[in-house]
Amino acid sequence: MKTVKDYIRTIVDFPHEGILFRDVTTLFADPRGFRMCVDQLLAPYAGMRIDKVVGLEARGFILGGAVAHQLSTGFVPIRKKGKLPGQTISQAYTLEYGEAVVEVHDDAMQAGEKVLLVDDLLATGGTAEAGIKLIERLGAQVIGCAFVVDLPDLGGRKKLESMGMDVHALCA
Ligand code: 5GP
Repeated sequence: MKTVKDYIRTIVDFPHEGILFRDVTTLFADPRGFRMCVDQLLAPYAGMRIDKVVGLEARGFILGGAVAHQLSTGFVPIRKKGKLPGQTISQAYTLEYGEAVVEVHDDAMQAGEKVLLVDDLLATGGTAEAGIKLIERLGAQVIGCAFVVDLPDLGGRKKLESMGMDVHALCA
């Protein structure tokens, strides 16, 4: 039987020379692959209280929407700077060259809510760390961080675990 990893293809030299890009669009496009992926992403959280699923732009929206629907929770997007229409809070984080900023609506989560953070891929962990900071600044609690792919050599899992996070990934 095919695994989630079997549905993901690798594109050489995208978006820059020397990068092996894990392309999850082939996973999302396959009905069996996508269902398997969503089911496996939420499996560890069965029976746990989850109030909101938070997805990181952009592929985290596709996964997070499906996971939230399955868990019957709300969905909250964390977006790149300038995309959300309402009042936001911002968090900067470091990229290989320069800095990026992500934002969330300041009324998207309530203090004390339990949150599951979802994205397609964990590399250095910078994006997820910024997302966690936003969630915590709103007083909500991250009960888990779920990814389809973890690239362990890039240190993201270690970074998130050192913040006390529970990290779940389907493949490396
Ligand atoms: P990090 O902040 O952990 O270094 O990078 C993770 C973020 O970059 C995620 O939001 C993810 O979508 C994106 N990303 C980085 N490399 C890849 C890749 O090879 N494939 C995909 N699908 N996303 C990537």
